[in-house]
Amino acid sequence: MALIVQKFGGTSVGTVERIEQVAEKVKKFREGGDDIVVVVSAMSGETNRLIDLAKQISEQPVPRELDVMVSTGEQVTIALLAMALIKRGVPAVSYTGNQVRILTDSAHNKARILQIDDQKIRGDLKAGRVVVVAGFQGVDEHGNITTLGRGGSDTTGVALAAALKADECQIYTDVDGVYTTDPRVVPQAQRLDKITFEEMLEMASLGSKVLQIRSVEFAGKYNVPLRVLHSFQEGPGTLITLDEEESMEQPIISGIAFNRDEAKLTIRGVPDIPGVAFKILGPISAANIEVDMIVQNVAHDNTTDFTFTVHRNDYQNAQRVLEQTASELGAREVIGDTKIAKVSIVGVGMRSHAGVASRMFEALAKETINIQMISTSEIKVSVVIEEKYLELAVRALHTAFELDAPTRQGE
Ligand code: ASP
Ligand code: MG
Repeated sequence: MALIVQKFGGTSVGTVERIEQVAEKVKKFREGGDDIVVVVSAMSGETNRLIDLAKQISEQPVPRELDVMVSTGEQVTIALLAMALIKRGVPAVSYTGNQVRILTDSAHNKARILQIDDQKIRGDLKAGRVVVVAGFQGVDEHGNITTLGRGGSDTTGVALAAALKADECQIYTDVDGVYTTDPRVVPQAQRLDKITFEEMLEMASLGSKVLQIRSVEFAGKYNVPLRVLHSFQEGPGTLITLDEEESMEQPIISGIAFNRDEAKLTIRGVPDIPGVAFKILGPISAANIEVDMIVQNVAHDNTTDFTFTVHRNDYQNAQRVLEQTASELGAREVIGDTKIAKVSIVGVGMRSHAGVASRMFEALAKETINIQMISTSEIKVSVVIEEKYLELAVRALHTAFELDAPTRQGE
């Protein structure tokens, strides 16, 4: 008999009918003999609706009060699901974060889980009940309700699974797993049977929206096997684990990630002297702007060009800061570009294979796509290219790394 934590997202509990369907599903699992803890999100759209209400009172709602309010979305779904289970003869009980005692810090709207009291849940499981827990919320040491940031129910699920030492944390959602890339861009994208925490973290940071990044970090840290599955279609989903051995048998690259969220800034003709990188990026970080990729050119005439990328939302701010720095340093000019995109190949297989980056560059060269910036890590190579070539690049790389699904006879 296993202990499984099952998390259902907003679309999976978006209507009463769907909540009944989820109840049917949980009932079947329960009949299979497993102990089940269910974590649910608010009904889809509900958290947005609540935030909109708050914003009608104040553009910047008081964070503590916002938490009191947005946490109600999940309070509704836990009760409805528990009722639906009980109606089906499945003993069940619902708890808010406070009732379980999911203890968090006091950082309202983006709190971190510190500790979970498993006593109550264990008692209920022992008594044969399904326990339904509100995602996204906790309580601080002073008894204030907190929330974990948008998409935080994933993290609740993983944290509960870790605290209960569950055999698996299943994340039910509206896709049937993690794909080699976005199927809307590459129709031949395939569902991955398995991916490592590290790879998933890269994929999530690079734009794959299947799981909240923090939940993947958490799962990796506590080694909680995570499985992404479709709520209403049968299938094995994608298992996310530590296990690298078997992934090694798979293609070198697990996935192609991309995002259009970045913008590029270049400061040209800065003196090539010690401390210049700090002088450029110091004020940027002081303005709370995160920098992603950085390239400094080889100097000539004792000056150099320095380029970096930031989130597009920070672009104008960063440009202002950089103009200021440019005049202080006597730099020639500041130029910017928002029409860029970042494409990355991700795979733990890279560690044991040489020539992966050059294979990537070759594939892009064949499509005459110019690479503007490159960065690498142990399991990832990223390039910045012109935005209009993004889809072409993703498709070319997907093919070059043999990720395309085999086409069936006659197709
Ligand atoms: N309901 C919250 C949100 O919409 C948490 C979640 O769904 O994971 O962000
Ligand atoms: Mg979500």
